[in-house]
Amino acid sequence: MIGERNQFDLTDEQRQVSELAAEIARREIAPHIAQWDREHYFPRPLFDRLGAAGLMGIVIPEPYGGAGLDYVSYALVVEELAKVDAGTATTVSVHTMICAVLLALGSEAQKSRWLPRLASGREIGAFALTEPDVGSDASQLRASARRDGNEYVLNGRKQWCTNGSQAALTMGMFRTGGAGSRGVSAFIVENALPGIRVEKVTEKLGIRTSDTVDLTFDDVRVPLDAMLGDEGEGFVNALRTLSGGRIGIAAQATGILAAALDASVKFAGERTAFGKPIGAFEGVSFKIAQMATDLDAARLLTYRAAALADAGRPFATEASKAKLFASTAARRHAAEALQIHGGYGYTTEFPVERYYRDAKITEIYEGTSEIQQIIIARSLLGKLA
Ligand SMILES: Cc1cc2nc3c(=O)[nH]c(=O)nc-3n(C[C@H](O)[C@H](O)[C@H](O)COP(=O)(O)OP(=O)(O)OC[C@H]3O[C@@H](n4cnc5c(N)ncnc54)[C@H](O)[C@@H]3O)c2cc1C
Repeated sequence: MIGERNQFDLTDEQRQVSELAAEIARREIAPHIAQWDREHYFPRPLFDRLGAAGLMGIVIPEPYGGAGLDYVSYALVVEELAKVDAGTATTVSVHTMICAVLLALGSEAQKSRWLPRLASGREIGAFALTEPDVGSDASQLRASARRDGNEYVLNGRKQWCTNGSQAALTMGMFRTGGAGSRGVSAFIVENALPGIRVEKVTEKLGIRTSDTVDLTFDDVRVPLDAMLGDEGEGFVNALRTLSGGRIGIAAQATGILAAALDASVKFAGERTAFGKPIGAFEGVSFKIAQMATDLDAARLLTYRAAALADAGRPFATEASKAKLFASTAARRHAAEALQIHGGYGYTTEFPVERYYRDAKITEIYEGTSEIQQIIIARSLLGKLA
């Protein structure tokens, strides 16, 4: 593969887990992806297989049934999956972040109850923050959790929950107190509870093998110990989830970009025009040169953010930079890859039209590019930005 990682020192363990993800993707996703994409099919059995290989519990320690690996491994796995199917990468990325936040904030009872089930891939996790009227400005969310004796009663609607109809548990943000971010708490909610309904399945431009639904909570009763962390800490927890998740989305964008580069190099060597392979024209080869350079940059930014997270150092701004750069590059170069393929690129005969459709979401979810710019600007300018 042209888009191989060059000269980035990975440990043997990181290299092995990356090769394992690539192998599963090649054998179990690649032969089916065109059909799955066409049919908007969520490949549920695949996640049992990924679970058995340890890839649904990447960051979960071994005592809880996980692989006990690090964020760099998480980024590598998501990247390898995204090279073949960005939708599967989305599922794994969101699921892994739920695991990471549960691990960081959960009580011992919550961790021993949920982490082994999530690590096995038999159960999948979802994250519910966005609402119909509240996206980027998430601190204004309206879904509520009202204390009633030994229970909380959840009401409201959550929009575009990745894994929402497939998940056994959803990490949901609900308002327990007053206005603004301090009034929000996080809950671990079992999706089978009475009163939770899948209201709408979203048909999407891309990442069609991922599950995206609206969830309605109608007087859903959860015990007090369903709260994750302390009351009023939910928004901070949500931001923490999103920061880690941005490493995953940066890795997803990097994987799409690597696939676009591979396809472009191959096609540029095979397709002839004016008596030469089109790769002989600078109009084509310079596009490929820029693609390869941006791929390296996207990878290095992503691995840096992951390595900082692994070292227990602040990584939120670096994760935003990685996501901003990698997603912009993926969207731009997926379009260039399609251009290099000419008319063929516009057809489903080649996968580049899928890369083009899949790349766009990486600029939108887990914080839009504009929100990443605000985070980066604030790290330099403080409240001025
Ligand atoms: C396929 C898919 C999967 C998703 N999965 C999940 C999930 O699992 N869980 C979840 O909670 N959410 C999920 N989301 C929601 C996603 O995170 C939001 O769509 C995203 O955060 C943007 O929110 P919004 O769509 O409401 O856009 P808005 O916040 O309404 O923004 C609209 C536009 O205005 C811009 N904008 C807003 N504020 C500013 C500002 N201050 N400065 C400059 N520009 C600004 C935005 O960048 C954007 O371009 C998903 C969305 C999709 C499409």
